[in-house]
Amino acid sequence: MSIVKIMKFGGTSVGSPERMKSLIPLITDNERKIVVLSAMSGTTNSLVEINNLLYAGNITGATEKIELLREKYHGVVDNLYESEQYRKTGHELINSHFGYICNFTTRAFTKVQDKAIVGEGELISTALVHNMLLERGIKSILMPALNFMRIDKDGEPDYYYIEENLRRELRKHDSKSILITQGFICRNAIGEMDNLKRGGSDYSASIIGAVLKVKEIQIWTDISGLHNNDPRFVENTKVIRELSFDEAAELAYFGAKILHPSSVNPARINNIPVRLKNTMEPDDEGTLITSNSELMDYKAVAAKDGISVLRIRSDRMLMAYGFLRKVFEIFEAYKTPIDMITTSEVAVSITIDNPRHINEIAADLRELGSVEVEKDQTIICIVGDFRIQRTGSAPEIFEALNTIPLKMISYGSSNISLSILIDTEKKIEALRLLSKYLFPRK
Ligand code: ADP
Ligand code: ASP
Ligand code: MG
Repeated sequence: MSIVKIMKFGGTSVGSPERMKSLIPLITDNERKIVVLSAMSGTTNSLVEINNLLYAGNITGATEKIELLREKYHGVVDNLYESEQYRKTGHELINSHFGYICNFTTRAFTKVQDKAIVGEGELISTALVHNMLLERGIKSILMPALNFMRIDKDGEPDYYYIEENLRRELRKHDSKSILITQGFICRNAIGEMDNLKRGGSDYSASIIGAVLKVKEIQIWTDISGLHNNDPRFVENTKVIRELSFDEAAELAYFGAKILHPSSVNPARINNIPVRLKNTMEPDDEGTLITSNSELMDYKAVAAKDGISVLRIRSDRMLMAYGFLRKVFEIFEAYKTPIDMITTSEVAVSITIDNPRHINEIAADLRELGSVEVEKDQTIICIVGDFRIQRTGSAPEIFEALNTIPLKMISYGSSNISLSILIDTEKKIEALRLLSKYLFPRK
């Protein structure tokens, strides 16, 4: 029996015993599915804090946090299960996971171990939900993600390994229709526990869906689909019912938190529809992402923080060829991807979102000319119809942002998006202005 769909439930969707129970009607249709779960909301943040305290040698602080989190989970167990037997199993499960975390308070802490701690949330949530189903007589299988999910030495999914091992796992449970697994966690190239970065459960779901060529990948969260602006900063945003893979990928990459930045790609390559649904309003149709969706003048706006810009000026660039190659080689040497680029005859500006090697990059670039670095920048990405043969489309954007200094503009490279660099402190104002001008309320 092949897997028909992937259903991924995020942190809020498993955020309390009540929410966990509300998943039951959603996952008990007759289709064979893999259910990918995140940690309960707030858990991964707490685990990251515990990890940081341990790393800083603050054992008392870490122990306090660990115990607070342990108590929270004992409370969850009390309210999740009906029988004494399942409660007992639940408390034992919590103690065993927290016993493992506590181990790190007695050993010297290293960077490798931190990856082991932050993944505990997913291991716990999946075990709790699996037992909840069993208690109610629903046949579910817990399929450990660490048995098949793996990244290579560059941090990319190792698709060959994943497919081989996932199919082997599935063969063990051929007759079962609900298979539960952890999002976010994986093994790295040398077999250690690792993860797909924050928000990575979406990515797990789409990697699994792509490998198994399922009919649909569903991402269940706390909002009814992808909105035309960031609802955390802008009021009266509206859901977009249909998006193309390219549009969704662009929005996810440039900050629409509802989707992990890399999560659209595996679905796009395999042409598998992705549906964004709201666990609290399961009847709402949400957003459907497919290979074709009609272009609109303006569809949505997203913002990505944590951007740094490097401005390189050099007279050697004047009339020269090969200059940009030298610039790019420096970024390549430090494995640092470039987001935006603009050039003039004697200058080039480049943005990056990974500042890890920024000092080394700037030092190497200084061999080519003068270099200025500016941090705390934000890229605003506007998705819409930006085909170059169109006229009269973009003025609303510049009218909207009239009062905001625009540091860089990228237009003409993509049919579907236009990106603008601004100071992060201007982000919320810019997002609100764009909503007012691009999506006026009728
Ligand atoms: P989950 O825990 O289910 O993965 P996330 O918090 O990662 O949920 O993503 C859902 C949240 O993304 C929403 O609650 C919303 O605040 C935020 N968000 C940011 N931009 C958008 C957008 N354009 N459309 C919808 N939600 C967005
Ligand atoms: N629990 C992880 C996080 O909070 C992964 C996820 O929720 O997608 O980042
Ligand atoms: Mg998320």
